[in-house]
Amino acid sequence: MIDFQYARAGTVADAVRQAAENPGAKFVAGGTNLVDLMKMDVERPAKLIDISRLPLDTVEESAEGGLRIGALVRNTDLAYHPVIERRYPVLASALLAGASQQLRNMASVGGNMLQRTRCAYFYDIATPCNKREPSSGCSAIDGLNRMNAILGTSEACISVHPSDMCVALAVLEARVRVTGPRGERVVAFSDFHRLPEDTPQRDTNLELAELVTSVELPAQGFATNYTYLKIRDRLSYAFALVSVAVGLELDGDTIKDARLALGGVAHKPWRDVEAEATLRGRSPNEATFAEAAGAVLREARGFGHNSFKIDLAHRAIVRALSQAARGTPQSQSNKKIA
Ligand SMILES: Cc1cc2nc3c(=O)[nH]c(=O)nc-3n(C[C@H](O)[C@H](O)[C@H](O)COP(=O)(O)OP(=O)(O)OC[C@H]3O[C@@H](n4cnc5c(N)ncnc54)[C@H](O)[C@@H]3O)c2cc1C
Ligand code: SF4
Repeated sequence: MIDFQYARAGTVADAVRQAAENPGAKFVAGGTNLVDLMKMDVERPAKLIDISRLPLDTVEESAEGGLRIGALVRNTDLAYHPVIERRYPVLASALLAGASQQLRNMASVGGNMLQRTRCAYFYDIATPCNKREPSSGCSAIDGLNRMNAILGTSEACISVHPSDMCVALAVLEARVRVTGPRGERVVAFSDFHRLPEDTPQRDTNLELAELVTSVELPAQGFATNYTYLKIRDRLSYAFALVSVAVGLELDGDTIKDARLALGGVAHKPWRDVEAEATLRGRSPNEATFAEAAGAVLREARGFGHNSFKIDLAHRAIVRALSQAARGTPQSQSNKKIA
């Protein structure tokens, strides 16, 4: 039995104040991850601050021609929002690839970003896990690590960030607006999540008592040439072994701009701007895409059970880029395009 307090936040300022007053407190939005973790004794918050009724559930056009998405917009509402479907379809695809309809109905944008890893040892409180209990060791490195990371790992942790939505947000170069005890700040999406290094207990660069209030998308949505490809053990209700989000801007037979991010392979959505640069100015063909895949995976390292992910990721990147270039985002085939 976990003894915890519960309070509903009336305003953003009230939520931040309550969190700052009690460092053991946690915000709860949809509760689809946090409540599970509490039931399994992985998380033991001293207080739950219910933010679910705060007025952060709207999607609005921004002055810069982009969109501002409230942190409490439900995953289902976002996936089927007409502007998201039309201008940011890679985000809609990624959202719909995640979890199940019932979970998406509850899950919020902020909660999805802050969801914790699905590493089996993190959930098993009988085993050492540096993320759950710092300095206790990592059971996955020499254990059952089929779902674990191949990029950006450390000696302390090889877990992956499990979100689908966040892979698309990385490709779209979203910005995250947060409010904390020292006021408001904006964080580039690439700086929001962290690599494990020697502090795997920290998933993000949020400071104590900071609340995510919105996510901002720039105007460029790659609505014509995009794809979100998720490879998993079964077709629905499963986390990614590897996922790939792609956005291309084509000028005839030349790639003018390219974005590429991977999910299921690292402690954060894995975007590699050097690999993206290898695509610009090139013809969109399989040789170009294979070169980019090689660049993304140049430092990939397997840990035994998950070593297959390196080859899987290579093929998934080539396929996702091919689909995006053809403008057939959900195509299951991988025919040569040039
Ligand atoms: C069976 C199952 C399958 C799933 N499959 C997938 C999948 O395939 N792909 C995928 O991407 N996800 C999947 N999920 C995860 C699901 O997407 C998350 O549980 C959900 O997005 C979390 O949102 P929430 O609002 O319920 O968060 P909560 O559970 O309410 O919160 C999660 C964390 O976020 C923090 N938090 C919430 N909102 C804020 C905020 N605004 N600011 C700061 N901190 C905040 C909380 O303190 C907590 O630590 C699955 C979940 C389950 C249970
Ligand atoms: S990989 Fe990370 S989450 Fe998994 S057991 Fe090791 S320290 Fe824990």
